[in-house]
Amino acid sequence: MIISKQLKRSQLVLIVDDQEINRDVLGMILEDYYEILYASDGVEALEIIEEYRDRLSVVLLDLIMPRMDGFEVLSRVRNDEFLNAIPVIVLTAERSAELRALEMGAADFITKPFDMHEVILARVGRIIELSEGRQLISAAEHDRLTMLYSRNFFFEYVNRIHTYHPDWPMDAIVVDIEQFHSVNALNGREFGDRVLQSIGDGIRGFLSEVEGMASRVEADRFNIFCRCLDDHQKLLDRLQNEVYSYARGANIRLRMGVMPWVEGLEPVVQFDRARAACNMVRGDYKTHLMVYDEDMQRREMLNQRLLNDLRRAVEDKELKVFYQPKYDIQCDPPRLSSAEALIRWNHPELGLVSPGAFIPLFESNGQIGVVDNYVWNEAARQIAEWREKLGVTVPVSVNLSRVDVFDPTLEDTFRGLIDRYGLDFKCLKLEVTESAYTDNAEQMIELINRLRALGFEVEMDDFGSGYSSLNMLSYMPIDVLKMDMKFVRNIEHSEKDYQLVQVVLDIARYLKVPVVAEGVETERQLQMLRDAGCQLVQGYYFSRPVPPEEFEKLIIREKQIQIKRGV
Ligand code: C2E
Ligand code: CA
Ligand code: CA
Repeated sequence: MIISKQLKRSQLVLIVDDQEINRDVLGMILEDYYEILYASDGVEALEIIEEYRDRLSVVLLDLIMPRMDGFEVLSRVRNDEFLNAIPVIVLTAERSAELRALEMGAADFITKPFDMHEVILARVGRIIELSEGRQLISAAEHDRLTMLYSRNFFFEYVNRIHTYHPDWPMDAIVVDIEQFHSVNALNGREFGDRVLQSIGDGIRGFLSEVEGMASRVEADRFNIFCRCLDDHQKLLDRLQNEVYSYARGANIRLRMGVMPWVEGLEPVVQFDRARAACNMVRGDYKTHLMVYDEDMQRREMLNQRLLNDLRRAVEDKELKVFYQPKYDIQCDPPRLSSAEALIRWNHPELGLVSPGAFIPLFESNGQIGVVDNYVWNEAARQIAEWREKLGVTVPVSVNLSRVDVFDPTLEDTFRGLIDRYGLDFKCLKLEVTESAYTDNAEQMIELINRLRALGFEVEMDDFGSGYSSLNMLSYMPIDVLKMDMKFVRNIEHSEKDYQLVQVVLDIARYLKVPVVAEGVETERQLQMLRDAGCQLVQGYYFSRPVPPEEFEKLIIREKQIQIKRGV
């Protein structure tokens, strides 16, 4: 930084330290650039601050001093409406004091023994610039709701600690609320705010015992940067209890992700990883705490790789659509009724990547539209191709992601496909997973209604894995229920599971829609489903998802059967 001596001389800096040598060293560093005042204890300092309050640009404040210590000075300055715009930089040798001073509203710290001169000059200059830009630092420093640091200040301090004390072992911890949007939707925003406050209280309580700092970085996400902990579960339990005590009865679960200290790791990356760990906590896990480990790092690298490679994959046709048949089992022999389009990625180096590995990734990253549009188009094209080539129209269902729902061009896209390939609306069916319905019920229902009004049929996928109530189901617009695979898996061995399947079939009868049972692998399962009155079946028993050339054979075989029967 270039500081013009003439220009800066008019700015006034107060140096407060009981040790003469410290005053001298700092004075020497700064005197060419600033006008300097000195005080040797807190009482003297306050007098000078009062006297020069309109002219003081910054106070450099030692914390440990006789008569009145620096904490007291800091707290008086911060609590005085005329003085609190003056930035204070604390001088300290001790980390706990430093963090406490920051919590109390210090603008920065300089460590003893003193840093290099350039560093001190730069920091003093920067704080003055900052404070001249904004008279009242404290308003922007804190999040009003929780009184934790705002995101910017938090990261500014965290980065400073990292830069000046790269050897301090600090944990990065991320906390958020599972399904916060539904907490808000169910109980109202005010309630949501109170829950956030209770988490803020819990975190502040924790930080009064353990050195560190914290911020609410976005809606329901908190970052904590603190001395390495042995027991993160204890902190999670503590915060969870704080929430319970505010919101007894409401089922609110916190999640926590931790990235432990690694020498040299940038705090931003450390927090990214803590967040990644936090996001791995899913509702069905027993634990709500995840510590980032090598496994996650591998997964993260793979994810990064897939994200980078997606564009190329589309251009180079590495993405392939496979088809899995659905059979009507109430006919004898079972009749091919339709197909489901399922994406496959044949990666040149990684081999066949399963959609389970990349669909959720692209969903959270916003790129799922690229994949889905590709599959929808390919499926529509395929229906037309089979129709021309084999003279048979095989309806194909495609999967919609939960995020596609927010795409305002969705209807146009589907209508465009129908026009382009000259299809009947009924040929291109849409599968929407049950949890997408329950997550955004209103939006979803509205969209599905519009699509159905155009003539599309909509299947509710993975039925039984979400939380639809019978009541909700009765007004959800659907044409077909796809029973989640887990219902079928055990019916041969568990009477109870078989009864559950029968319940699902009863619900479908009540809704007057047919059921597709997914994941049927054995003859016995098929028999039991047929006996229970299930009409459609999809699963390895008939065929795995296969490339279109293979699927063609199924169509041809089906045609021959129909011809033999004279249909
Ligand atoms: P899904 O929609 O529930 O698809 C059914 C999954 O079950 C497919 O897995 C299929 O291969 C598998 N499966 C079918 N029969 C059997 C069986 O008898 N036994 C067992 N164990 N599994 C069976 P796949 O292809 O790995 O797809 C997984 C999920 O990825 C799909 O679940 C779907 O949610 C998603 N997905 C696949 N393709 C797409 C796509 O193009 N777009 C979107 N948004 N999601 C897709
Ligand atoms: Ca599906
Ligand atoms: Ca499914």
